[in-house]
Amino acid sequence: MSASAENTHAFQAEVKQLLHLMIHSLYSNKEIFLRELISNAADACDKLRFEAIRSPELLADDPDLAISITLDAEKRRIVIEDNGIGMNREEVIENLGTIARSGTREFLSSLSGDEKKDAALIGQFGVGFYSAFIVAEQVEVDSHRAGEDSAVLWRSAGDGEYTLDAGQRTQRGTTITLHLREDDAEFVQDYRVRGLVKKYSDHISVPVKLIGEGENGEVTVDTVNQSSALWRRSKSDITQEQYDEFYTYVSHDSDKPLAHSHNRVEGKTEYTSLLYVPSRRTFDLWDRDKARGVKLFVKRVFIMDDAQAMLPNYLRFVRGVIDADDLPLNVSREILQSDRTVETIRAGSTKKVLGMLNMLAEDNEKYATFWAAFGAVLKEGVIEDHGNAEAIARLLRFSSTANDGDEQSVALSAYVERQKDKDAPIYFLVADSMAAGRRSPHIEGLLADGHEVLLLTEPVDEWLAAHLTEFEGKPLKNAAHVDSKTAENEDGDDAVDEQYRDVSARIASLLKDKVSDVRVSKRLVNSASCLVSPEGELGEHVKQMLRDAGHDVPPEQKILEINPTHPLVIRLANLDDKDRFSSWSLMLYEQAVLAAGGALETPTEFLARVNEAILAGA
Ligand code: ADP
Ligand code: MG
Repeated sequence: MSASAENTHAFQAEVKQLLHLMIHSLYSNKEIFLRELISNAADACDKLRFEAIRSPELLADDPDLAISITLDAEKRRIVIEDNGIGMNREEVIENLGTIARSGTREFLSSLSGDEKKDAALIGQFGVGFYSAFIVAEQVEVDSHRAGEDSAVLWRSAGDGEYTLDAGQRTQRGTTITLHLREDDAEFVQDYRVRGLVKKYSDHISVPVKLIGEGENGEVTVDTVNQSSALWRRSKSDITQEQYDEFYTYVSHDSDKPLAHSHNRVEGKTEYTSLLYVPSRRTFDLWDRDKARGVKLFVKRVFIMDDAQAMLPNYLRFVRGVIDADDLPLNVSREILQSDRTVETIRAGSTKKVLGMLNMLAEDNEKYATFWAAFGAVLKEGVIEDHGNAEAIARLLRFSSTANDGDEQSVALSAYVERQKDKDAPIYFLVADSMAAGRRSPHIEGLLADGHEVLLLTEPVDEWLAAHLTEFEGKPLKNAAHVDSKTAENEDGDDAVDEQYRDVSARIASLLKDKVSDVRVSKRLVNSASCLVSPEGELGEHVKQMLRDAGHDVPPEQKILEINPTHPLVIRLANLDDKDRFSSWSLMLYEQAVLAAGGALETPTEFLARVNEAILAGA
């Protein structure tokens, strides 16, 4: 095997990094190489079947798609062969010399350099073709692209470069030969490989055949897997392990999923869906433009990965398969976007996923895992999917003043159930952080009155707050918005109100370019002042996003509330010195800005005012 310089190629730097990491850190789970190679062979068969819809001649000369495995104990060799789509020279370079899947690239860039930590990470990751080098010191790939007339031979020892030569295959498909390391000879044993195929590849819809030798030296062929599409089998014939293994196949995630939902839908539109909730985020969860979604099959023929149209965007974390009976085999992404059948399937699948989450919510621990990973994505559903807003609202979980920790674990139904004042709304506050929320002046009065307040701290929460206005007939009330209690008609101590209404008016005229009004507060207990928004006002993040998108958003119309029981406000009311009155009014405003987590325009002036007040008091 001599390679001349001109057919020697260097791996992309990331590939080298991945190979190094894999060879040195996956030794405890070596067997997964077989899963990866069989899954690639199955994908190649799926792709061929798909291309053959348009070009039947591709399939004609060799119509029975299959994967075969031949073991050679003497030479310590495994050969995995498929008659799928195959690759030509360019495709081999692209697919086996670089890293195509963006998730893998992002995964690599997230590595810490700490081998132990990185090894734990990569163990959870769908590692793909390069995993062959975990067990092989030399790998050969002989591939023949369907419809073309020559083969290409790719060879590498996984050490930084590979060679390309003319291949041997005369028919379409790929032959992968692994020359095993001495320590990995176990993988040429028939029983070992048979066990692995059963374990990892039973759900693969093409037959996986083990080629062996009979007692008299004759060739034996034994199909090891069930080789029927898993989702088409009946639920009672599928074990949890098989469901989990199929999840790994469709998701490239080797952690177990949190839940699955397997359904056969009959009627006007017929389809089968097998959908999973992963237990952790993918790297591209926040990239809304990224193609993602479930695998689409039509009558068992693979059509595409990442069929986004089959589920709404806010369920983009769901993985799995949808196999539709009533779509044409030649559907394109464009057709999917506006197809009536797809709409029906999307609506049905959305209900199934929400139902699955509802079931999952009965297990607090699992649901907490789900919520931590995908809660913020699910919240988008309240905004995007009005039809299911109620069902989604039931799935939401919040942090709350009733709990000590920061974890989001309170359901709206739990809030309502333990509410003491049944006529009160559901109170919530959007804050920059939990610490700021808990100490916010806005909720001092509510807490003093024994109300529970839900605390929302994620960027999406302002949107959520604007859309989630009631839950099962009960209104939700933003604690930072104008309180009806503050309104002028509220009964209370008239004399006090009278006096402070006058003070408020004086402050309002001083601060007229900063706030739209100044009012006497009924919500404040410890703080001297706070800023509130008019009912229905959008949050700052939302406004900024709208402005960024070119919308004309009117400036903030904040209202300053002052606490008539606070010593500072009482002193202010009795100040004769006009300058000092003006200075203290500004200070009340600035304190309210700071308490809301805002930044002051002129912090040094604020400090000067505070210092002056301290010294005046001293
Ligand atoms: P993934 O399967 O996630 O795309 P892999 O590293 O497993 O990543 O494989 C990389 C690519 O190599 C595949 O996407 C495919 O295009 C190509 N490939 C691998 N094995 C085969 C095969 N047996 N037949 C045809 N193409 C293959
Ligand atoms: Mg693969």
